[in-house]
Amino acid sequence: MSHNAELISVGTELLLGNILNTDARFLSRELSKLGMNVYYQTVVGDNPERLRRAVDIAKGRADIIITTGGLGPTCDDLTKQTLAAAFGKKLVFHEESAERIRDYFEQNLHGAPMPENNLQQAMFPDGCVILPNDWGTAPGCIFEADGCHVVMLPGPPRECEPMFCAHVVPYLQKLSGETIRSRTLKLFGMGESAVEARLRDRMNALTNPTLAPYAKTGEVELRITAKAESDAEADALIAPVEEEVRAIFGDLIYGADVDSLEEVVLAALKEKGLTLSCAESCTGGLIAKRLTDLPGASAAFEGGAVTYWSEVKRGLLGVPQTLLDEKGAVSEEVARAMAEGARTVFGSDLAVSATGVAGPDSDERGNPVGLVYVALATPEGTFCRELHLGQSRDRVRTTAAHHAFDMTRRYLAGLPSELKV
Ligand code: ATP
Repeated sequence: MSHNAELISVGTELLLGNILNTDARFLSRELSKLGMNVYYQTVVGDNPERLRRAVDIAKGRADIIITTGGLGPTCDDLTKQTLAAAFGKKLVFHEESAERIRDYFEQNLHGAPMPENNLQQAMFPDGCVILPNDWGTAPGCIFEADGCHVVMLPGPPRECEPMFCAHVVPYLQKLSGETIRSRTLKLFGMGESAVEARLRDRMNALTNPTLAPYAKTGEVELRITAKAESDAEADALIAPVEEEVRAIFGDLIYGADVDSLEEVVLAALKEKGLTLSCAESCTGGLIAKRLTDLPGASAAFEGGAVTYWSEVKRGLLGVPQTLLDEKGAVSEEVARAMAEGARTVFGSDLAVSATGVAGPDSDERGNPVGLVYVALATPEGTFCRELHLGQSRDRVRTTAAHHAFDMTRRYLAGLPSELKV
């Protein structure tokens, strides 16, 4: 049976625009992975009358209501009282939760005395299932009434997200009586609309599993989701669709259930026992940052140089002055010389470089915003891509770094560094 879930996010700071509603984004994504429909999201301030109105409306159109926020100890934390009243339930004291809250203060707040109003967090709607909070003080809860499953979670994302995964997902899976499994293929080198155009007919024809593309800056995710009675059955439904998708996009697919291109690059470098360094101009250290965000990067990443000025490209990397004068800093020749220079300076097996115009203005030679050269120096020679990455500074830099990783990935996989789309 398909379920309709509605999210109600409680918090005046959300309405004022002081914080982003990342809980709703997280929950919507996770619910869609579980095959649940989310037709409405509501944000309400810390006001019991308006929250009550929102709950009454949600009751009429959803069979799962999930609230976030307003479970804390302060007087504006009114979610439990309001939800309990809306479903005709009393609030009762739960000693075990009170104990956990006392323990939390002991262990995490170095024995600071617990203000008595924290015990308000141990009051729950009669007959609910209490969701322990191992990440903070406010426990959540679930109850069923009037044909609705009501879930209350705390607002802070570092509490809301793990609590949802640990307690709510198993509850919702039991409700649907099915298991839902997803596999996400990551694709680089083709835009979302081109990907969608190639898959549209197939996507429309599929019901279980479903296939859906999601655009990210410069790359596309393809998620295959199957519902079945067991994990093995769901995986068996996913496998042939994955094979079909791989046959369409070939080596543009850089991984399955992985986070990023750099993760794939780092794993391949480690596997082959090779090292990488980088020389960056327009990316300003982004390539090095993304690699060093990954734990264990030091096994393969030697170092990087941010060489913004021509003098630094020459002095640090040995880019010949004649090249800089004749071709300009944004040129294929300089990108190649930067990568080769980094390879020599760092003594790494491979080196990547990026030089380009991130904008918003074109450079002094009149090169347009978005023109970027990315090069990869290897023992077999140096490869270079000329790219036209649009107008947005952020996008130009992010996508240039993607290309540096993609070239490295393709080299390590024995694929040509050019993209044939
Ligand atoms: P606490 O016991 O920590 O007060 P709570 O359930 O009462 O938890 P709120 O007081 O409503 O939660 O919010 C606490 C903080 O959590 C907010 O100041 C905000 O930083 C964050 N937060 C609340 N709701 C959201 C949301 N929907 N998305 C992202 N962050 C949120």
